[in-house]
Amino acid sequence: MIGITFRFANIEVKPKNIMSNPTAGLYIHIPFCLSKCAYCSFCSIESVRLIPQYIKALARELEFYRRYFGEFATVYLGGGTPSLLKPGEIDLIFQAIRKNYIIKADAEITLEANAGDISAEYLKELRAIGINRLNVGIQSFNDKVLKILGRRHDARQAVSAITAAKQAGFKNLGIDLIYGVYGQSIKLWEDTIKQALAFMPEHISCYQLSLNEKTPLGRKYQSEGWRIPAENLAIEYFNVTADRLEGEGYLHYEVSNFARREKFISRHNTRYWRHEPYLGLGASAHSYLSGRRWWNKNVVARYIKDIAVDKNPVAASEQLTDDQLRLEELFLGLRTKRGINIKYYKRLYGVDLISDKKAVIEALIKNKLVIKQGGFLRPTRAGMAVADSLALI
Ligand code: SF4
Repeated sequence: MIGITFRFANIEVKPKNIMSNPTAGLYIHIPFCLSKCAYCSFCSIESVRLIPQYIKALARELEFYRRYFGEFATVYLGGGTPSLLKPGEIDLIFQAIRKNYIIKADAEITLEANAGDISAEYLKELRAIGINRLNVGIQSFNDKVLKILGRRHDARQAVSAITAAKQAGFKNLGIDLIYGVYGQSIKLWEDTIKQALAFMPEHISCYQLSLNEKTPLGRKYQSEGWRIPAENLAIEYFNVTADRLEGEGYLHYEVSNFARREKFISRHNTRYWRHEPYLGLGASAHSYLSGRRWWNKNVVARYIKDIAVDKNPVAASEQLTDDQLRLEELFLGLRTKRGINIKYYKRLYGVDLISDKKAVIEALIKNKLVIKQGGFLRPTRAGMAVADSLALI
């Protein structure tokens, strides 16, 4: 560890104790989509025109951080729609990464793909570049649900996308699904899970629809008087999901995430949950190192312009206090099956979690929401269903 202040043009980033060239995760945001999904509030634009300039900006931004990051154990191309990039464009990004950093030989290298855009030929080219994990945004196998969500693909294309990934030889395939959509019943959701299980993907993420009122779908919910599932129904969706997937042998390792085996747990996302260092590049991307978090501007053209004149694209940064880090540790840890390592927590924050929160933890144990096991405080299934409120202990 070395004490250091670093500055990119206009923003000072000053971690208390910056780790010298830690092994980290690398996230690259690709903010381009052909059309905007009705519920989307991510940083993405409905145009591909700026892709070449954006890739140049990414290559330049990669150079900024050479002093602080050396080696990546995970690389994640997320979006937006990374699968809109041509293989040659993805290759350029990887050339720029490898020019400046080491990607570990056993690195997990993920690309997010949209079900409507991919073919086996395209995916074979991605594998040749080094992508070894594909995450496909399926969301549903029901056309009515896909229509409400405003997705560009239909159920038939969802099936073709998974088939193409298998044909291309991906041995670590993840799919994303969404539940709690207006008009969807538990029965329709169970059908979607059943269809997903027919492919036995290595990883399945099941998210409850979260609505931003400024999105078209948020406005539609308001104007039509539609409701997101009440707590009881949301818990029923959650339990049905966990029952079906665990019944097929999947590990429910985080509130929304299931892996077919331990080795398929997302190593990249696990870094976020454990406060491990990660570098995020591209518009809106977040980074974390030694208690310092910083994030880039979220306007794509602005990001490109700033980098073109060697100006820092960072929008803001914050140094988390020990108290903030401790609360995040609780919040993130209690969303995972692994839970919180009691000894590690004490070493890090100088607080014995069990005696400090004795009364609350005893009540949670009595209500079967958490258990103490093997030196960890872990959420039970019922605890995971209400994980956000557990973190308030
Ligand atoms: S594909 Fe993802 S990023 Fe693009 S519009 Fe849809 S939800 Fe948003």
